[in-house]
Formats: sequence, C-alpha cells, structure tokens
Amino acid sequence: MSEPEVVIKASSISFPRDRKISFTNGELISYDPATLQENGRVKVSSEEDVQVAVAHAHQAFPLWSSIPLGERISNLKRLSNLIYDDVEEIAALVSRECGKPKIEALTSEILPVLNMISVYTSQAEKWLAAEKPPFFWLAWLLGKSAKITYKPFGVVGVITPWNYPFYYDFGPALMALLAGNTVILKPSEYTPLVGKKAQELFAKLNLPPGTFQVIHGAGDVGQALIRARVDKIAFTGSPKTARAVLATAAERLTPVVMELGGKDAAIVLEDAPLETTAAGVAWAGLTSAGQVCASVERVYVSEKIAKPFIDRLVNNVQGLRMGQGLDPEVDMGPLTNERQLEIVKGHLRQAVEHGAQVLTGGKTKDQGLFFEPAVLVGVDRSMSLMREETFGPALPVVAVKDEEEAVRLANDSSFGLTASVWSLNRERAEKVAQRLRAGAVTINDHAVSAGLPNMPWGGIGESGFGRIHGRQGMQEFVYPSVIVGERFPRWKRLWWYPYNQKSYQFFRSLLVFLTNKPLLDKIRAISHLWRNLDLRRLH
Ligand code: NAD
Repeated sequence: MSEPEVVIKASSISFPRDRKISFTNGELISYDPATLQENGRVKVSSEEDVQVAVAHAHQAFPLWSSIPLGERISNLKRLSNLIYDDVEEIAALVSRECGKPKIEALTSEILPVLNMISVYTSQAEKWLAAEKPPFFWLAWLLGKSAKITYKPFGVVGVITPWNYPFYYDFGPALMALLAGNTVILKPSEYTPLVGKKAQELFAKLNLPPGTFQVIHGAGDVGQALIRARVDKIAFTGSPKTARAVLATAAERLTPVVMELGGKDAAIVLEDAPLETTAAGVAWAGLTSAGQVCASVERVYVSEKIAKPFIDRLVNNVQGLRMGQGLDPEVDMGPLTNERQLEIVKGHLRQAVEHGAQVLTGGKTKDQGLFFEPAVLVGVDRSMSLMREETFGPALPVVAVKDEEEAVRLANDSSFGLTASVWSLNRERAEKVAQRLRAGAVTINDHAVSAGLPNMPWGGIGESGFGRIHGRQGMQEFVYPSVIVGERFPRWKRLWWYPYNQKSYQFFRSLLVFLTNKPLLDKIRAISHLWRNLDLRRLH
C-alpha cells in the first residue's frame, strides 16, 4: 500500500514541541495543542481552598437537599438554555483546549449534555422515587410494611479527565445535584477553562451558595479533595490514577464510582457491509484523535474479508484532513497533550520493533501535537499496543479465523468498557454481543450508548466499576435507606423480651414454612403456631 498523504490544514502554524502542563505563580495555563498559543489561565486551588470549598459544600447540603426535587429539577433545567445561548463559545473553547474539531465538541459533548439535562430532569422523579418491595408473606404476617427511600450522600467530589471535558464536567455533577448532593468539581489540569465555564453557567442558576463549586489543579488538588471530608467521589480517568484515588479514599472509606480506560474491540464478521464498516471503524478509532475511553483500539476482522476491509479502512484513514479543530473542514485535530503523544509514539514504536507493519500514518508532524492516524497489521498481544490503553489515533487490525477466535481475542483484555460487532445478521451479532465482556456492546456502530443518558455507562475490570447515566447512574449518588412500618403498634412484638418456651416453639414451627417440606408438615405446624402465639397488648 502506498504511503499516506495526510493533509495538514494548519500548515502555516509553527511552534515549539514542548507543550506541557504549566503552572506559573500559582496559575494554571491552558494551551491550544494545535497552535501552542495560550488559551487563558486559572488560579490553582491550595489545600486550604479545597478545605474551605468542602466546608461550604457541607453547609449548603441541608438546604439544597431539602429543596423539593421538583424545584431542583426546574432549577437545573434552566442550564439547557444557558448552554444553548453560549454554544459557539463552548464549542470553540472545547476545541481550543482539547484540539478536537468543533463539530465533535457539538456532537459528542454539548448535544449529549443537553440530552442529559432533558432525560435526567424528566426521569429524576421516577429514578429517585421511593420503592415498595414485592409482597413477602412473613413480613406481612409479622405486621411489617417496608419501603426503600433514596437519600443523597452529602458532598460529592467530581474529578474529571481532559478528553471530553464539557461532557464529564456536567454529567456526574448533574446527577449528583438532582439527587440532592452538593458538588465540588475538579476538572483536568489540561482543560481548566471548560471547568471555569461550567462554574460560570452554574453560577447563573443562583443555587444556594456552596451547592456547586469548582477547584483547579492537578493530581495533588484531586488528592486534597479526596482527603477533605467528601462523602462520595465520582472519578473519571485512567486506571493508574484510579488506584491512587482508591488508596486515599480507603482512608475514610469514602465510596467511589470509577469510570476508567478501555481497549475496545470491534469485531467485523464476514457479512459486514464493507464500505460502511470501514468508515464506521475509522471514525470509532479516530474520533477525538483516538482519545476516547471507548475508542476502537483493536479490530478483529474475519479473514474472509480481511484484505478488502483493510484496504477500505486505509483509504478512509488516508482521506482524513488534519488541522486546527476550529476549521469546520477538519476531521482530526492534534493530540491534547505531550504526555499522550509520547504514549502513542511509544506503543507504535514498540509494536514495529516486534514486527508490526504500519500501513498508513504513524508519524508526528513538525507542527503542534499532530500525529498521523495509523493502521497497523501484524500485531499481537505481546505488544503494548494490543494490551494497554493507547488513547490515540492508531487502529491495529487482526484477521481472525472465525467468530470463536474473535470473541476469545476480544475478551482477552484486562479492560471491559465497550465493544462493537459489525454484521448484517442482527441475531448473530446479538449472540456475539452477549458473549463479550464489556459494559456496552454496539451493533454496526460504536460506543453510542455514551450519548444515551437513559442507559447505564461504565465497564468492568480495569475499565472501572459503578455506572453513570441511566437509573443505575443516578443511584450512584444516593444510598438506599429502608423505612419499616408497624401495623400493630400497641402489641408486644413476638421476638421481644421476655423470651420463653412458648415463643421459642412459635418460631420453631414457623421455620417449616420457609422449607420445601410436604404440605402435611405445614398444616400440622399451623396448630403449633396457634398454640404458641403469645399475644400481649401493651399500653
Ligand atoms: P488521569 O487519570 O490522568 O486524570 C483524570 C483526573 O484525575 C484529572 O482531573 C487529574 O488531575 C486527576 N488526578 C491525577 N492524579 C490524581 C491523583 N493522584 N489523585 C486524584 N486525582 C488525580 O486521566 P486523563 O489523562 O485526564 O484522562 C484520560 C483517561 O480517562 C483515559 O484512561 C480514559 O480512558 C479515561 N476516561 C474514561 C472515561 C469513561 O467514561 N470510562 C471517559 C473519559 C476518559
């Protein structure tokens, strides 16, 4: 295959290649990874700032949680118009901080957030409503009635990554607030201005002071937040950081919901439509320059169609136009930060040293943090490219003998975020989906459930635990609290003092009804129950 011709649209831009996260005089500087121009700066929060913020959030909690849910809903609903009014500014800001095309800021950040607001606010009453458990005869016989209520934790610390800053700065926070918690958001140090924008938008709602606050900084500020007395942590980031988060959360036994990395597999069966699948897999592996927790990072294609599929995939990838994300005619921007660029380069270098062939792309440019999207073959599990999260524009492809081999290889991963199956046979695709170890499987597309706020989002293994979105996601921000009622409040309960032989015999006879003993035994037990029933009315 010929060497790719990737068009760099931002060709007039030149800048040093050492864009790193910088702190100057207590300020965090945000850079555009395409131009390395400064976007702006924010003040880094000190340990004391964090403690003050947490104290304010605790003070705000009793008021915010006591506001009726309907009012909290109407308050937060107002965010949609505020976001819509600033849509151009937000899209440009996301693009300038992450490097992604503005259209991606629109389709995979702003649109899903508006959708979240719409779905969460319409469903919150149902998702948070008290529940009556199914009828259980023993509880009824003993005079009990019970229900499950859902109570907010208190102060929720939300720690977010840089790859989908707007989406993650809003998603968990919205659920936590609707559920009645107060929230402290710590956005990524690479995208502080999006976090600042979230703060501005929430400020326009005039929520009780301390209900939603933003603190800024890197991992040390994240640690300070966990060490402060927060009641729940919603963390989205890498498995490596997750371990540090868990270690600190363990000190206070603070509960955590973890949305971590992925190594998503796309399984392309022999009846998949070639053109569409190649276009879909290219998008799924390369959108946001491959910096998606649910990027396709491994492609397993039936050997029967491997050659034509790979040709089409390479064609698709070679047709991508790279450049600054603010240009609407650009398909892919640069990587967001130097650290990520180094990881991607390292994975590709090691794969090539171990025998992989790069069919297209795989090179840096002299400009910004651009990296030509790559398609590779000749890859195997000995390579970090096939085991660890690459989080960059690389699509390694493996031809497989059959469905069995595809499923086995796809499941051979420490991650389990999402996966996709590509086939025109819906029934067969669903059967394959059923066998994949992942939090979501998409058929003939990839990871779209991230945009369906009524569906739980999350993974297993190194992809994390717990869920955001959907009813399950909302329930991460409440704890079930059972209320048990008494139908005979004036009567001494049968299990209270004083204990005696009669009550022992009563419960002894009751046990048989919880076994599979013959009906005759149960009928006999009824008379024992009656004889030993020790009813006493007290005053
Ligand atoms: P990261 O783990 O480096 O950082 C995430 C957040 O944690 C940042 O705000 C960072 O400042 C903070 N942090 C860093 N060290 C910390 C520490 N020791 N204690 C507390 N907080 C700390 O991740 P990243 O590079 O920002 O984002 C990329 C990762 O996030 C990838 O692994 C990606 O797959 C994952 N991600 C997962 C999802 C999901 O829904 N599963 C979504 C987006 C991103």
